[in-house]
Amino acid sequence: MHLTLLVFRHCPQESQRPGSISARVPVQPPGRTTVEITEGWRTNLARCGKIYSQRWASSVGRDGAADMHLSDHDLKQLDEDYLRGLPAESLRSLSGKLLADLKEAHDRLNQNPSNSSRPPSTRAPWEKDDSGVDEKRAPEATEVEAEAPTDRAQADAAAGQDVKPSRTAPEGDGTPRDEAKPGRPGRRKGAPGVSRTQQLPVDAEERHWPATCAACGTPLGEELECRPYTARLELDVVPPDGAKCLVLRQTKHTYLETRCGCGHCTRARPGRAAGEADWTVELSEWYLAGPTLVALICALALRMRLSRARIQEFLHDWLGLELGVATINQCIHEAGRAVDPVVQGEVLRAVRETDLLHADETSWKEGGRLLWLWVFTCASATLFTVGKRTREVLDRVLGDAFTQWLMSDGYWAYRDYNWRLRCLAHLLRKARGLQESFDRRAQPFGTQLLEVVETLMQAVYQARGTPPDTPLRDQHAALLTALFHACTRHAESSHEKTRALARELLNDWDTFWVVLDYPWLPLTNNEAERALRHWVIARRIGNGTRTNQGTRAFANLASVIETCRKRSVLPWAYLAEVLRQRRQGLPAPALPVPAVLAACPA
Ligand SMILES: [Zn+2]
Repeated sequence: MHLTLLVFRHCPQESQRPGSISARVPVQPPGRTTVEITEGWRTNLARCGKIYSQRWASSVGRDGAADMHLSDHDLKQLDEDYLRGLPAESLRSLSGKLLADLKEAHDRLNQNPSNSSRPPSTRAPWEKDDSGVDEKRAPEATEVEAEAPTDRAQADAAAGQDVKPSRTAPEGDGTPRDEAKPGRPGRRKGAPGVSRTQQLPVDAEERHWPATCAACGTPLGEELECRPYTARLELDVVPPDGAKCLVLRQTKHTYLETRCGCGHCTRARPGRAAGEADWTVELSEWYLAGPTLVALICALALRMRLSRARIQEFLHDWLGLELGVATINQCIHEAGRAVDPVVQGEVLRAVRETDLLHADETSWKEGGRLLWLWVFTCASATLFTVGKRTREVLDRVLGDAFTQWLMSDGYWAYRDYNWRLRCLAHLLRKARGLQESFDRRAQPFGTQLLEVVETLMQAVYQARGTPPDTPLRDQHAALLTALFHACTRHAESSHEKTRALARELLNDWDTFWVVLDYPWLPLTNNEAERALRHWVIARRIGNGTRTNQGTRAFANLASVIETCRKRSVLPWAYLAEVLRQRRQGLPAPALPVPAVLAACPA
């Protein structure tokens, strides 16, 4: 018997891969090529499934991964007899899934800390422990005391009637917390883990059916006979009617399996996002905390500036919920990862495409290391990023084609941008400092500068009301020339602050007075300073972040929260929705638009 396989153009590597399938199938690029399938092909397909199943199971675990078409459960059912019985169309569809999964599996098998973004710390548990996917993919407790994150284990255990016992996470979290240095947070190596002991009642139950057959693709109706094979528990804080109050609710999600007419048994699975570079925290429905509970934890951590321990106390005292600090930390990291595409996409675009951007930076600490928290804010979005105080950060955020107005401080890296503004409020403060100084040379320079800046600011305010007949720069040319000469004189002053201010003025001379030509532009960088203020207080309370992932989660969440606030919309419902979608492997929804804009006809 002969069958036809279609090899499509968008998989050009297919013919070059050294896999057991392609080596035996002659493919003629380019484009859509038809080749004959013989009995040998069926044998290869079955073998491929078997090899894949064994190697993948030993590398990742029983349940496969979120971005795989077929789970291990599906693969175990595939054998030569099954393939022999499939009609051509179904076999073709199944071949496509197997090929895609095989390639992904090979890529993953070849991944290690030296050739990918996986940190070295991820190596140990994968290699040492082959007792199952959930344990291995257990989230890393990074920033705080790493008590065993057994919340999910609890979820599995509670559903124990129909869950295989091996799913329960083992004692300890399996994350490498070696070389426990004195004073370092986290569970010490060898210390006993803590299991989740709190038993909460189940308030609701949801059942999940598989929608289509994983092998042949036939839609599976709910009328088919289903049986449960696993379940998970989810805790959330939304009342059933969506009212604005906190109600702790536990939902039991039961996942069903059903048999298709083709004989294949398909299982509904909890959602799990595919791995993303630089993130070790998982995005998964397996976690105990539901999306709104995660959003609440983010609100407490980022807006209310509560430490992980205080959040734990709040949840215990007000909701009767016991959550470990490691779990709370993991919720924040997961939310930070969930909004990453929004921040790197929509928010970054808004910042780059604005007419007027305010930028500022303040120091930040990550694990005791000095870094800088940068803010870029415009009318519709605010972006935070943590990095060194280098030109590189500006290039990364603004790209190489930023040609709009940029209000910034005097940091040299900004000077390459043509359309630049300087904050006059800064200048006023420094001038006042000199005027009040005890140095005699500084006082008159301070007074002169103060008078010039105040006069020019007044002129700008007036020009905004009534446009002047003569351009402001011409009106005040004499004043500016006198100031310029004073600056030149003081550029070599022996008084340090006088010298620094005179040089700063000379270095950025035109940038300070651009507003005379365009009076509608802002006089100060208050927008950026306001955006930073909340986080400066947070840094003082929490002493920054501890890990790189924690820093990125923080910057991402801060960006989404401030952007929503800028648009006068609440960030929390949006954040919960992003988590809901991303945990299912779906793209994040777009940021909410301000109510005013939403009301306008398109
Ligand atoms: Zn089927």
